Amino acid sequence: MITTDTPLQKQGRIIVENIIEKPETIVPRPNLQDYDETYRTFEWTSAYDRVEWNDCGRLNAAESAVDRHARSSRKHKVALYWQGADRNEKYTFLELSHLSNRFANVLTELGIEKRDRVFIFLPRIPELYVSFLGILKTGAVAGTMFSAFGPEGLYDRLHDSGARYLITNSALKGRVYEIRDNLPDLERIIVVDETDVAEDEVSYPEAMKKASETFDVAEMLPDDPAFMLYTSGTTGKPKGVVHRHLAIVQQHLTTEWVLDLHDDDIYWCTADPGWVTGVSYGILGPFSCGASVVVHDGRFDPDVWYSIIEQYRVTVWYSAPTAFRMLMRAGDVYKNHDLRSLRHICSVGEPLNAEIVHWGMRAFKLPIHDNFWQTETGGILIANYPSMPIKPGWMGKSIPGITAAIVDDDGNEVSPGVEGNLALKPDFPSLMLEIWKNPAKYQEYFMGGWYLTGDRAVQHEDGYFLFVGRADDVINTSGERVGPFEVESALIEHPAIVEAGVIGKPDPLRGEIIKAFVVLSDGYEASDDLESDVRRFVKTRLAGHAYPREFEVVETLPKTRSGKIVRRMLRAKELGLPVGDVSTLE
Ligand code: AMP
Repeated sequence: MITTDTPLQKQGRIIVENIIEKPETIVPRPNLQDYDETYRTFEWTSAYDRVEWNDCGRLNAAESAVDRHARSSRKHKVALYWQGADRNEKYTFLELSHLSNRFANVLTELGIEKRDRVFIFLPRIPELYVSFLGILKTGAVAGTMFSAFGPEGLYDRLHDSGARYLITNSALKGRVYEIRDNLPDLERIIVVDETDVAEDEVSYPEAMKKASETFDVAEMLPDDPAFMLYTSGTTGKPKGVVHRHLAIVQQHLTTEWVLDLHDDDIYWCTADPGWVTGVSYGILGPFSCGASVVVHDGRFDPDVWYSIIEQYRVTVWYSAPTAFRMLMRAGDVYKNHDLRSLRHICSVGEPLNAEIVHWGMRAFKLPIHDNFWQTETGGILIANYPSMPIKPGWMGKSIPGITAAIVDDDGNEVSPGVEGNLALKPDFPSLMLEIWKNPAKYQEYFMGGWYLTGDRAVQHEDGYFLFVGRADDVINTSGERVGPFEVESALIEHPAIVEAGVIGKPDPLRGEIIKAFVVLSDGYEASDDLESDVRRFVKTRLAGHAYPREFEVVETLPKTRSGKIVRRMLRAKELGLPVGDVSTLE
């Protein structure tokens, strides 16, 4: 590992060394130039041997991602280039393998058992990546969380999952202590940057120093759980989406097919592992392809972002529409950087407007390739491949192994060009294993042999899919999925608010912003001070991104006779659209 203590802006070009001892046999990939033929003949089972299995049909996604490369000619190749605010580090596959072995030993020493939940609450620092892999190696389930989460967001996840261990740092642990007494299952807090720790804490640096760098990686069944993330629906608290070790097969293949990673690529995924993209395509998929991954721990800043591409000579870049829109808004900043290393750009998480694709062509001389998937599907489903013509505004075609269709509300397929529910045959390896402790919720995703994404879309005769919108009230702000119910629950905890209804309001930059309609308690009056106080209140409770940017004080909220807030009426009113059927309203 090499550390440089100079700020990114002042550093010279970082020398990118990718030492590969001798070239490996090149495995020909299914020829997506011939999409129709590959799509017709492809079977997932034929791709199983692309990741490491043992003789008894067991695997471990961490082994498939990192350890097999640490045993191969790629062992001294850089797996992780980490760029912090004022220093950088790099780790080879062998180093990452040894460090994650050490962490697996630390957990074993603490008494970890298979299927225990271990949560990570860290910024994007190397310890996050090491501990994620180490957890998987023990057979436990890794849970990831954004470092922007407040105590309430943390409580929902740690309490529901029954997490036994939590890995965090000195700057973030205070938020955990605010709810610590209400987390009976949480045994130990592992602190990555302290040596002098409290009794129920573990010092990561001390424990890692003592731990061995060899470890017997747990051999898992394909359907054993590997990692989990919480995601929002329309109602209730966030749900724990659990993914299996087998998902790595799909993550591996889609990283090749869609992100087009080759051995000499330097790949930058801008997603945080608190979001599924940061796990499937920030850790498992790219490492499993033996690629060098760049991680940037820092806030969004167009100049810094372009510097990352320039300094690391990033060739493949995976980001999200809000980030591209913000870069587009920053104007000509890209002209100050040499971005000629880029050869492929992909986007996910929100609709990629045709305008951004055209801007990408002007700024980078490359098209931005859209692709579609969700937390629950664990891997890419629909994509514009490098080999395909791009239809700006369209998400692309389903990948081989995925049967996607548009169905009506009874599960019948509709004709091309007709809007309906985007559905999938639930027979692909990265589909979620379960919703944690909520089988009823899991069942709600399925109808008539289809998995329903909750999205509305249209399929053209040529096979391309066009995203229309969510079928439910879930909000997508800057690519983050936010459940209206969570925000409403946080709002009504504020003494000034009795009732709240929350909607996503279209926004040119963020896709949607959160707008709250609130009924005030007696004695309170609307004011700018009250608004900022409520905004701060929600922000610190839930997460940095999940707060309403707009408020409107109302006398009453539209409700059904059974008392449910009718958010579609709030949205119709906001956008000046027809309100639709009102027969069930109070
Ligand atoms: P998440 O589970 O947080 O990744 O959110 C998944 C949701 O984001 C999907 O159900 C869609 O509503 C939206 N989404 C993801 N990718 C795209 C895309 N390429 N175009 C439009 N919406 C997308």
